[in-house]
Amino acid sequence: MSAGKIVLPPAMLGMLGGGQLARFFVIAAHEMGYRVMVLDPDENSPAGLLAETHLCAAYDDHVALARMAQECAAVTTEFENVPASTLGALAKSVPVHPAAATVAICQHRVSEKNFLRDHGFPHAPYAEINAESDLPANGLYPGILKVARFGYDGKGQVRVHSRDEALAAFRNFKSEQCVLEKMLTLDYEVSVVLARNAAGHVVPFPVAENIHRNGILDISIVPARGSTEVREQAQTLAHGVAEKLDYVGTLGVEFFVCGGQLYVNEMAPRPHNSGHYTIDACVTNQFEQQIRALCGLPLGDARLHSPAVMVNLLGDIWRDGEPEWSTLFAQRDLKLHLYGKHEARPGRKMGHFTVIGDNADEVLQSAMAARQRIKVEG
Ligand code: ATP
Ligand code: MG
Repeated sequence: MSAGKIVLPPAMLGMLGGGQLARFFVIAAHEMGYRVMVLDPDENSPAGLLAETHLCAAYDDHVALARMAQECAAVTTEFENVPASTLGALAKSVPVHPAAATVAICQHRVSEKNFLRDHGFPHAPYAEINAESDLPANGLYPGILKVARFGYDGKGQVRVHSRDEALAAFRNFKSEQCVLEKMLTLDYEVSVVLARNAAGHVVPFPVAENIHRNGILDISIVPARGSTEVREQAQTLAHGVAEKLDYVGTLGVEFFVCGGQLYVNEMAPRPHNSGHYTIDACVTNQFEQQIRALCGLPLGDARLHSPAVMVNLLGDIWRDGEPEWSTLFAQRDLKLHLYGKHEARPGRKMGHFTVIGDNADEVLQSAMAARQRIKVEG
């Protein structure tokens, strides 16, 4: 690729993955005048249904990748489990951002933790577990055993209170490579979504405070409550992580706040669920920013124009059929986004809504009331 090349509409952009993050990318790309080619093996993928071209094939399908390299002016991804070799192969003939090596760090918990350690970013104490003998007798209990690859939404993780429990959990994961992480007592959790372009310019979005349920993001409150220092430090740390990764694109960095101190939990080399509020509450949203970084354009203004609360809608609320959407549409401060997924399953992210307004407390109350009406439990 030629460094500094600008990709302008009506160029075709390549997207690896076809879930909701890719769907919002397609929507933003269309608004800006670009066309999109999506690669996803699911014929009903939410983004594939909107894109100009949907290559319905596996992520290592050579014919599909050759076509993408041929027809696209630049390629990006919406999820970290695309094989890094796929990104590497495409990069031989088309600009690919973020780079394969960067995605490889974020898609493997051991390399991710080692990256944090090696660059001096604060993180929970951990041990790399390759074999039973790596499980420590003490020091990391209570802890969480996490498989190194393909975990998401709390899947592939078990809380363990002793070496015996860790051993049982490790065997249950079929001795797959893991990290054992010390369980921290969390004050709360925050995340920073930012964009960085190839010129090294970084624009962070406001910090989100995230509340999880059953290991899945439930609610994001923006701006995050708590101290100004924590918010500023989170943005500074996220900026540092993006620099050290030489990141190009939209990046999500998750943090734990414990005893007023920040610890980096993990990085997502793509737009982040906790950044969905940017669609309705910021001048430029995280998907437009992803496109701007990918295409070598200047990054947009990330200013928040209203306090916002985002609520995830999981497949669980489809238990009695289609939810009563009219109760949400009746609320004028609420923006509903449904992802067009054909099948609702418990725990599956089907949509979200964002409430915006002038007063942060009222926005939170309004969002919680709407959440109750649409029968999100809890
Ligand atoms: P996602 O992909 O949805 O971000 P994930 O499956 O990659 O989730 P993590 O982010 O590692 O998993 O963990 C999910 C949640 O579990 C965290 O947001 C946090 O609430 C809790 N958790 C994880 N690790 C720890 C820890 N070391 N101490 C305390 N809580 C933790
Ligand atoms: Mg996480």
